[in-house]
Amino acid sequence: MKLQINALSKTYSNGVQALKDVSLTLNNGMFGLLGPNGAGKSSLMRTIATLQEADAGSIFLDDLDVINNKTQVRQLLGYLPQEFGVYPKISAERMLDHIAQLKGVGNAAERKDLVAALLDNVNLSKDRKKNLGTYSGGMKQRFGIAQALIGNPKLIIVDEPTAGLDPAERNRFYNLLSQLGENTIVILSTHIVEDVSTLCSNFAIICQGEVLYAGQPDAAVSEMEGKIFTKAIDKAELSFYQDDFTVISTQLKTGRLHIRILQDTDPGKGFVSATPNLEDVYFSNIATRVDVNTI
Ligand code: ADP
Repeated sequence: MKLQINALSKTYSNGVQALKDVSLTLNNGMFGLLGPNGAGKSSLMRTIATLQEADAGSIFLDDLDVINNKTQVRQLLGYLPQEFGVYPKISAERMLDHIAQLKGVGNAAERKDLVAALLDNVNLSKDRKKNLGTYSGGMKQRFGIAQALIGNPKLIIVDEPTAGLDPAERNRFYNLLSQLGENTIVILSTHIVEDVSTLCSNFAIICQGEVLYAGQPDAAVSEMEGKIFTKAIDKAELSFYQDDFTVISTQLKTGRLHIRILQDTDPGKGFVSATPNLEDVYFSNIATRVDVNTI
């Protein structure tokens, strides 16, 4: 499968341009769409999921014109939206059975097997009789993936799935997501760099509606080799350093501010060369757009 997004643009009626000429190519596997809040990730996800219109551009899933074949696309699609409401007084098992029925699995025995397999897949079998309202955030997200998997989707979209999960729940969710990617296209939208470095074979950085980078996480990090330098400074000195250097991130540790800068050559002045990571890639791409101290 291949998803080809070409020159997609969208301006909302309030004048906000959420997508500016977005072009991306996605193959099977897990694709991370990384960007700060308000970058346009949900707008892009919703457009691919056929839930809203773009003003210009095209999306093709292999030969299928997504924008003009919504019904067909929806049959191939699994979608876990950012705001995933559940009916609190119904069990996971009953809800999945109901959704499977809506998605056209008419045979009750077949549905029973499908629901059992899905619950097992997302590790919710023992909690299947509990009402969804009693589920933790992580359990709700795993239930969300189970419902998105009904009908063997070829394209799975998960919008900010790990926001609000505690570290253990996030780990469990990572394990689940990492099993999905091989024969399907999975698009994972997130503002959490770790989601991408842990899960994704390809990714793009999006900010203010524009694609700033697209490629493989490892290659992106390699490109930063020898260009990241770090130094501990007094907090009050930050603005001086910001005048002289491209400060891409700051971290307060035991009263000192540890800054990381991007520079082609050794800056001297007490800076030490640092091993680059995906956060450096992310912050250096968005640093010119967003004040990194507010992220
Ligand atoms: P992200 O998912 O990366 O946080 P969004 O796609 O939700 O970004 O939002 C991109 C921009 O579009 C933001 O400035 C947001 O306020 C704006 N926006 C999103 N949805 C709407 C809408 N329905 N009407 C008007 N503006 C919107």
